[in-house]
Amino acid sequence: MAKQQRQYCSFCGRPDTEVGMLIAGVNAFICNECAEQAYEIACEATRQNKKKAGKDADFELSELPKPQDIKAFLDQYVIGQDDAKRYLSVSVYNHYKRLLQEDKADDVEIEKSNIIIVGSTGTGKTLLARTIAKLLKVPFTIVDATVLTEAGYVGEDIESILTRLLQVADYDVKAAEKGIVFIDEIDKIARKSDNPSITRDVSGEGVQQGLLKLLEGSVVNVPPQGGRKHPDQKMIAVNTKNILFICGGAFDGIERKIAQRLNTHVVGYGSVQNTLRIDKENMMQYISPQDLKSFGLIPEIIGRMPVLTYLNPLSREALLAILTEPKNAIVKQYVKLFEMDGVELTFEPEVYEYIVDKAIEFKLGARGLRSIVESIMMEAMFDIPTKGDKTFTVTLDYARTQMEKSNLGRLQAAE
Ligand code: ADP
Repeated sequence: MAKQQRQYCSFCGRPDTEVGMLIAGVNAFICNECAEQAYEIACEATRQNKKKAGKDADFELSELPKPQDIKAFLDQYVIGQDDAKRYLSVSVYNHYKRLLQEDKADDVEIEKSNIIIVGSTGTGKTLLARTIAKLLKVPFTIVDATVLTEAGYVGEDIESILTRLLQVADYDVKAAEKGIVFIDEIDKIARKSDNPSITRDVSGEGVQQGLLKLLEGSVVNVPPQGGRKHPDQKMIAVNTKNILFICGGAFDGIERKIAQRLNTHVVGYGSVQNTLRIDKENMMQYISPQDLKSFGLIPEIIGRMPVLTYLNPLSREALLAILTEPKNAIVKQYVKLFEMDGVELTFEPEVYEYIVDKAIEFKLGARGLRSIVESIMMEAMFDIPTKGDKTFTVTLDYARTQMEKSNLGRLQAAE
């Protein structure tokens, strides 16, 4: 038998037996590793060329999604919340514009517009942030404000916010300096009362002062590994001038502040009509910077977040839609799971209504939908792969029985 002829990578010279794969060209071969290296070299060369041409940004305005495109993308995953989506889309688009304008010596400087999103828990703040991250062309990270404390106290320094951004940017400082940071639970650093504190407030006002420095734009020394555990680690200087901050918070109880303000302000002409027109079910839509101040954010911080938007509480219809409509809706995820076992999963429409009713009854909001579906499907997920059935329909009776049997159902019944 003729010995099979050996082929070699024309770049590193290794034979086909020593590499993962060889790709054949007209007169040559390249192995997978050399191909990867070549790709990296080509990318780096393109970056260098762009820099030489005076363009620091890795993108052009014409190739970026427009605000309407960004919103359409968000619509695929997030139900409702149109106002917040619009604000977010415009802010992200303007952020790109600022970055592009930075490269040009122009006398009109576009200032950044940090955003603050207010909405009860489970209405989609983090979901919005995560979804927008999927289409961003700049580094993006989500951090939690609850762990932050004033320097020197137990907890994390404000600078740790930037550590995360540096990490996602692979320690490329220039890239991180153009990134977007979503600070969740910003309401947790509100000062505890409207009056400036007499006693020290290590997790409130002090943190806000620290955060102010970041929001305004300054050069901050960031510990590359985060935390304070390595006191001798070398700091990295990061300029926050071009970093966009999006803050989100539930601001529990802020509706009362809004109501108070509306009541005190609507005196005189037309006050009766105004009061009548106020939609008491959704006070959040009337939010204004003053309310954030009454809640305990310092005016300087509020001033640095010029875009204020809100999320609506989720209605029954919204919960129903969340269950079935988004691109990765909970129901679609279960259908997929069953499909992988060759089982066609269907739900009777009344089951959706039942799940939503339970979520409302348990006061779990959208977050509860998943645990309820999980409780209903647990037994089927355990049995079906072995049984070998080709179809499975969840009826209302089945859903009810499973729910009553589940821990969740028992827990709630006992309350
Ligand atoms: P929070 O406002 O507290 O940050 P999340 O964004 O974490 O709330 O929402 C919790 C979960 O609820 C999400 O993972 C998502 O499945 C669901 N959810 C909440 N709001 C929406 C919405 N408007 N559209 C689609 N799903 C939503």
